[in-house]
Amino acid sequence: MSVFATPDQSLIDSFLANFGAQGMTALKDTDWKAYVPGDYAATGDLVGFVRKGNESIYVFDTDGVRGSTVIGHVLADDEEADADTLANLQVIGRMVDGQLQLQVKDGGALRPVRIKRYDLTDRLLSRNTGLLESDVMLDKTVVLVGVGSVGSYYAMQMARSGVGRFVLIDTDTLEIHNVCRHQCGFDDLGRYKVDAVRDRVLNINPHAEVITFRGAIQDMLDDEIMPYLGRDTLIVGGGDNRASSAYANELACRTDSSFVAVGCWTRAYAGEVFYWQSGHDLACYECAFGGMIDDSERPDAHNHYFGTQEDEDTLSFEPGIAADIDFVNCVAVKVGLDLLNRDNPNYTQRVLGYLQQYTWVCNTNATNIGGEMAGIFEHPLQVTHNLQVNKRADCPHCGAGAAHGAEGHEDAGEAAAAE
Ligand SMILES: [Zn+2]
Repeated sequence: MSVFATPDQSLIDSFLANFGAQGMTALKDTDWKAYVPGDYAATGDLVGFVRKGNESIYVFDTDGVRGSTVIGHVLADDEEADADTLANLQVIGRMVDGQLQLQVKDGGALRPVRIKRYDLTDRLLSRNTGLLESDVMLDKTVVLVGVGSVGSYYAMQMARSGVGRFVLIDTDTLEIHNVCRHQCGFDDLGRYKVDAVRDRVLNINPHAEVITFRGAIQDMLDDEIMPYLGRDTLIVGGGDNRASSAYANELACRTDSSFVAVGCWTRAYAGEVFYWQSGHDLACYECAFGGMIDDSERPDAHNHYFGTQEDEDTLSFEPGIAADIDFVNCVAVKVGLDLLNRDNPNYTQRVLGYLQQYTWVCNTNATNIGGEMAGIFEHPLQVTHNLQVNKRADCPHCGAGAAHGAEGHEDAGEAAAAE
């Protein structure tokens, strides 16, 4: 009985007053409906709320849903409800013959409510059917290194794709200049981005497991990160520096996780997507970008987004509109879905057989937006598929002697566990 907040009487009154009021479509009793988790009987109490402007009652097994007001809760039938508590409740439910019966209390009359049971695979993720296997996706983990404009978008897409577990890593709080291109908004100002994004993930899939870390991935202890890495894990480098991506790719090599990095260039006129997975003789991030990771030899194209230490203060002011950032990011999401399904024989790879390990995604080739470098693209919205990156044969991470090697992923797992 511990999971519901104090009922908000004014909201209840306004809801009841608006129910069928002039100017609104009057709802029939049978239009009242409640969404109830299919496994309700096993989980116990539910809480319910009415969202403003929507006459449906939504019932969850947690009261942690932001933006909602709890107006009541559901009681199991063997529970002794005291009169004072019930008098304040507008949603009352009981288990009858093993079925949940929910009623809305309206002027003393109890009216039946249509129950719409849902579960993850049959309802919540039903529109993915035939494209993504829910049972497979729920066993996957996505580790987001950075949950800013890139990572927050990636998290939303992966939640909608049915990924069951998230690890969110970021040092920052959400500031007002972030809002125009972040998945979170005014409700979340001043909060740690990992906390704000966690709530957005749970708002899509209340059953997801979300682990948060307020810091840099390089600062995480093995105990804190290693339990979440492995062949069913995708690590996403979405930070504003190459060092965190290099470290994340190294972790992927050690644990046979897969890896994808996303970054945008000046004003997001274009961006880049890089990925790594074991067993394909691919270069790791450090091999591919080694010269740029220490900020010493960066081509002009990378100067701004991947800035030097001195640039750090201005990084957050690097312009770039969400529509451009998200276009680059969307390509990376497609790569990530392919990587997460690399062992699924029923899955058809969408882009991995076509895109190379390193891809440039152009938003605009107008030089007055992107500078001279933008002219290297033939046309807007160009996505390259012919870039090559260097791989060092003696690389300790991805080279011939590295843990993941050609022996296969089982050996890699043993090697990683032995470290
Ligand atoms: Zn390497």
